[in-house]
Order: sequence, then C-alpha cells, then structure tokens
Amino acid sequence: MAKKKVSAKKKKEVKGRAQALRKIGTKKIVQLKKKKPVKKKAQPKEKRPIEFIGRTTRIRQADPATVIEWPRSITHVHTYGMLSPFFQGLREGKLMATRCSNGACSEKRLWIPPRAHCPDCHAEMVWEALTNPVIGKIYTFTEVVYAGTGIELSTPYWQVDVEIPGLATIPKSYLLYGKPYIGMKVKAEFRTKRPTNTVLDYYWVPYEG
Ligand SMILES: [Zn+2]
Repeated sequence: MAKKKVSAKKKKEVKGRAQALRKIGTKKIVQLKKKKPVKKKAQPKEKRPIEFIGRTTRIRQADPATVIEWPRSITHVHTYGMLSPFFQGLREGKLMATRCSNGACSEKRLWIPPRAHCPDCHAEMVWEALTNPVIGKIYTFTEVVYAGTGIELSTPYWQVDVEIPGLATIPKSYLLYGKPYIGMKVKAEFRTKRPTNTVLDYYWVPYEG
C-alpha cells in the first residue's frame, strides 16, 4: 500500500514539473538541467573506495626484520569530580583541604590530598583553605633520578613528604630548588602562571624563618 502511495505522489510531481517547465521557458530548463549532475555525484556507499586517513609509518630498520615507527597519541579525558575545589584552589594559589563533616567522627584533622568522603566514617567532607603562607616540615625525602612514564618534571628532582600543621596526612610533592633534609622548613608555592591543572601546580621552596 505504501509503495503505491509513493509512486502516485512521484507521478504527480513529475507531471507538475513538466507543466512548470513549459511555463518558464528554455532558460530555466537549462538551469534545472545543470543541477542534475550534482545528484549523480553522490555515489552509492558500496562504490566508494576506502581511504587511509592515518599517518604513515617510517621504517626504522628493514633487516633482519622490518621495524616501523608508528606515532600514537591519545587524549586522556579525566574528571576531578568532587575533588575539583582542590585544583581550583591551586589555580588561585591556595591549598584546599577537606575535613569530616560528622561531629561524632574521631578524625578531626584535615586531609591533603583531599577526600570526597571521610575514610573513617564515610561522611561527606567539607572544604577548608589553608592560610597562606603554608609552612611545612620535611618528614622524609627521596631523590628521583629516573621518573616513571607520565612524570613531567625534569630529573633529578627531590620528592618530599611534608608535614603540615593540622593535617591527618603527610602529602607528597617536590622541592623546587635546594637540598632537603629531615626537619627542614619549607613553604608552599603555586604555579598560577601557565598552570598544568594537575597536582604539580604546588611545590615547596626552602623557608628561612
Ligand atoms: Zn569522619
């Protein structure tokens, strides 16, 4: 039934077009004819050749086996979710920490890295900014000579674990310059210009005081 309807409609269209052409004369007919090849351009899917849209490889070695260099790159899309205030804080030059909202919880101290929920009682945490300047004390340190994949700091660098007053944690970061020792006083600084928008946007510098 549906087929019959379509063909009837088409017949009517063709008839209508023929009548219209008779009315508008030769000039219009030429224009209409010109438009027709555009329709023909659309090839049926099965006739379209498959194209290579990637980057070609380079042959690094042909003998005894062929070895190619095949560049790959990916964009990792990552959400900070409920921890976003920490990273917003870094962009603004402040350290944001979380504290348990449950008054009955035994852990009253702050957490950095922040937690969305209390590891002790699972209550939602509340945010608190540490007052600048944030002065800490090096608890321990290690020299990183070979950093693993994904570490975007020049090596060697000093990775430092810093005790910060009021915190339940001893967060890891890095010393921008100088040589660390246990008990050394350090001050938090921030990469607010050209931020990486990662945890690398805060670091420590020696503090005299
Ligand atoms: Zn708690």
